[in-house]
Amino acid sequence: MDLRELYQDLIVDHNKRPRNFGKLDDATYFAEGFNPLCGDQVTVYVHLDGEQISKVQFEGEGCAISTASASLMTEALVGKTISEADALFELFHKILVGELELDDEKTQQLGKLAVLTGVKAYPSRVKCATLAWHTCQGALHNSEKPVTTE
Ligand code: ZN
Repeated sequence: MDLRELYQDLIVDHNKRPRNFGKLDDATYFAEGFNPLCGDQVTVYVHLDGEQISKVQFEGEGCAISTASASLMTEALVGKTISEADALFELFHKILVGELELDDEKTQQLGKLAVLTGVKAYPSRVKCATLAWHTCQGALHNSEKPVTTE
C-alpha cells in the first residue's frame, strides 16, 4: 500500500465513522461554522479545564473532507493547551495554503493530520479541510459571530 492509498483510507474511515461526533453537553464554549462554497456545516464544542482542552466534539453535515478533517481535528486537539492548538492550526493552515512546505519534521508534527495536506492541490477543498479548525478557533477564542470560510 502506498502512502496515497493509506491517506485515502484514513479519510474514508473518518468520514464513515467520525470520532467524537455529537453534541457535548458540558461544553465550555461552542461555535458554528459554515462553508458556503461546498455547503459544509459544523458545530464544534470544546470543554476547557483552565487552558487545557479536555474534550472536543463536533456535529454537522458536510462532504467527506470536511467530516474527516473535523474528526481528525478532535483527536489531535484533546489534551492540548489553547496555545498548542493555535500553533497546530497555524502550521496546518500554512501548509494547506502553500505558505510552508511539508517536510519530514512538519509531517511528524502534524501526525495523522498530514493525510489532509493532499487537498492543497485543490484550493476549493482547502476550505472544506479547514472549516472545523476555523470554527474551533472561534469556540476557543469565544468569538460571538458564526464562523464562515468566506
Ligand atoms: Zn466540503
